[in-house]
Amino acid sequence: MTTAPIDPLAVAASEKPLLSAVGADFRDRFDGQLEYHWSKNRFLLFYNTKYDVYVPAGEHHPRTRFSVAHELGHYFIEAHRAFLRRTGKSHPSRGEFLSDRTIETEADAFAAGLLMPASLLGPIVNEGEMSFADIERWAGEFKTSVTSTARRAVELSDFPCALIGVREGRVAYSFHSQAMIEGGCYPRPRGSDLPPDAQSKVQAFVGGNLWDDKGQAFARDWCQTYDNDRAAEAPVYEYYCGVPSMQTLLVLLTVPEEEIFLDEDD
Ligand SMILES: [Zn+2]
Repeated sequence: MTTAPIDPLAVAASEKPLLSAVGADFRDRFDGQLEYHWSKNRFLLFYNTKYDVYVPAGEHHPRTRFSVAHELGHYFIEAHRAFLRRTGKSHPSRGEFLSDRTIETEADAFAAGLLMPASLLGPIVNEGEMSFADIERWAGEFKTSVTSTARRAVELSDFPCALIGVREGRVAYSFHSQAMIEGGCYPRPRGSDLPPDAQSKVQAFVGGNLWDDKGQAFARDWCQTYDNDRAAEAPVYEYYCGVPSMQTLLVLLTVPEEEIFLDEDD
């Protein structure tokens, strides 16, 4: 039976001799890179260990683990592997969820699924209402970053919720749970403005005075609700969590189910 944390390097090792993983401090060149060497019919997976400095020997930082899992995505996803085999092109990858390119999004999704399997994290996420305290606990258990854990938790949630990443005072990304979409609350595009109250939280974060805070707004402040008045007027609870290493303020939004779904018993 699979248990957390998942070791992506063990997964890589199971693909020997077709795949070899090589870790080193590649500084700012890339977080991970997968190459295909046709003369040897071999894939080389390079991962940057620069984040591992404060981690006990033999262990890896969540970002390193995510990089390895991301590159495994390029290796295991058939279309990515075929492209690599055809072109031999090496392919530098960086960060978590920072790219708009489809193949990067796919590899990130693969990584999140590998490190946080639905069968393990899903039931825990749906036990009750979640907060960043829960997300931090799960991140510790799965040895994943708070950002990737929050995103995956929203994805696996059966309840209306969303994760907004705020960078430079604007929406950098939004992930909405299926129930949130079904309730009529859709993501705003990248680069959207923030609600006024959220802007003051951003100021506090930039000034180094915000780690953990709460707030409340309406769904229309954070989401596109189009002509759905019920969704627009729904209250959203905001949970803020600063991630200084990513220069990102995370905002977890939850909406009480009864506010956007009509009670079928009525
Ligand atoms: Zn990549």
